[in-house]
Amino acid sequence: GRTIGQMLTRAAECWPDRIALIADGRELTWSELNAESERLAAGLLALGLKPGDRIGIWSLNNAAWALTQFAAAKAGLILVTINPAYRLTELEFALNAVGCAALVMASRHKGSDFVGLLNALAPELADAAPGALRAARLPALRLVIRIGDAEVPGMLPFAALAERAGAAERSALADLADAIQCDDPVNIQFTSGTTGTPKGVTLSHHNILNNGHFVGRTMRLGPEDRICIPVPLYHCFGLVLGNLAALTSGAAMVYPGEGFDPLATLRAVAGARCTALYGVPTMFLAELEHPDFDRFDLSCLRTGIMAGAPCPIALMRRAIDRMNLSELTICYGMTETSPVSFQSAVDDPVERRVSTVGRVHPHLEVKIVDAAGHILPRGGVGELCTRGYSVMRGYWGETERTAEVLDEAGWIHTGDLATLDPEGFCSIVGRIKDMVIRGGENIYPREVEDFLYRHPAIHEVQVFGVPDPRYGEEVCAWIRLRPGAEATAEDIRAFCTGQIAHQKIPRHIAFVDAFPMTVTGKVQKFLMREAMVRMLT
Ligand code: ATP
Ligand code: MG
Repeated sequence: GRTIGQMLTRAAECWPDRIALIADGRELTWSELNAESERLAAGLLALGLKPGDRIGIWSLNNAAWALTQFAAAKAGLILVTINPAYRLTELEFALNAVGCAALVMASRHKGSDFVGLLNALAPELADAAPGALRAARLPALRLVIRIGDAEVPGMLPFAALAERAGAAERSALADLADAIQCDDPVNIQFTSGTTGTPKGVTLSHHNILNNGHFVGRTMRLGPEDRICIPVPLYHCFGLVLGNLAALTSGAAMVYPGEGFDPLATLRAVAGARCTALYGVPTMFLAELEHPDFDRFDLSCLRTGIMAGAPCPIALMRRAIDRMNLSELTICYGMTETSPVSFQSAVDDPVERRVSTVGRVHPHLEVKIVDAAGHILPRGGVGELCTRGYSVMRGYWGETERTAEVLDEAGWIHTGDLATLDPEGFCSIVGRIKDMVIRGGENIYPREVEDFLYRHPAIHEVQVFGVPDPRYGEEVCAWIRLRPGAEATAEDIRAFCTGQIAHQKIPRHIAFVDAFPMTVTGKVQKFLMREAMVRMLT
């Protein structure tokens, strides 16, 4: 298959009776998933949506999410994945930035009243017939589809979508199966917003289907495998490394529930006998430290992915040893490159796997350049650039911002500092934006963090730079202490003295309970920097 729709049809032929999806207490086989996606796709066409239209999804992980993803792909729609933590301003921004004509959304989750929020943004909904919304603040939006049982004026229940289609839509869908091209956009994902306002990344079938395939192949996934996916689907980690690696390998997708919960994740792994487990570092940490951790039999696990943020070496070792993840892999990537460009192989020596992000994926080129754009010799630290099939079509509607990261020769400038060793193993040093330049010397926060993790009282640490009148920037550390542990800033600095160069020793140290994070679990250093600047002045 060249498109996601064709691949799903093919999966249904290859593995008709194998489990494709376990979610919301349901199990769907590949043939059921394919058939249900086609009914939904026909229903979306029956509502007047046309190929190329944008359809947003604003929900936590559930079966409807996966069905929407595959149905949208079959109908030639572009799925816009919206962070479920977004509130009014961000939702309005996301829907309008790409002109969503339809929105599939959750009803309610714990403290979040999704329906209430949307009604506040589009009060016109209550009087609108399905498919005929006219809302002042959301000019492109015509149709709202709601996941869940409650009746809500103006919103079409997800479960009623499939019934809308007739013979005409079914035949249109059959024509689309051949008409959709592999380079057509299929997905717009917003970057995490770790460094500022998120950008809407336009990705094609070719981009993400291939990336999912190579990720699955690297982990040797096959129809016998089951992937536990606690990471959000609105982000490429869940959508591509999860759902599309499953689609291209025949592995099953297992969603432990809506929103991350370490206990639910452990339960899903043991209950569904998952062979693979995904997570950002903080998720693995929460699972390992859960008081009930030892109650679960994780002997079914074999492989998985820890990614999305710097992965502390000690944490990776713990996951490998304690969770039976002998083939745990590490990935590096970014939304703009579908996302993965580096991944460790399951048989790379553990030493390499815990200290690097592995080697470059097949069919991609990489180079490491200095500030002037010259390729550095092996071992040099510079900006990582990648080129190949995985490079995005661009930021939706933002030619100038696209040109800032994607050059004319097709290279993506990642904004990340990295180095390649003689065998091609890559180490991510940090973001260029996070590098601290103190008195003209480059300091890489990651290096200081790795050292501070050796301190027995430190549970988590984040290092960043703050403006300094004398040195331009000074090193600052935010520390979460272990429960019951005590330490003062002087203790921490004394621990560093004589061990690391004096300019790297954090001048400002704050002890905190939590770090500002994106919903993907990424620490937002720019917010910490802003807070620290306020504290210091
Ligand atoms: P924004 O671009 O909006 O500021 P973001 O860059 O965090 O947010 P993503 O595309 O989700 O958005 O994340 C990609 C970034 O995550 C990479 O550029 C890199 O900085 C970081 N990253 C990804 N994988 C790793 C890894 N294995 N080790 C270290 N950093 C990583
Ligand atoms: Mg980025």
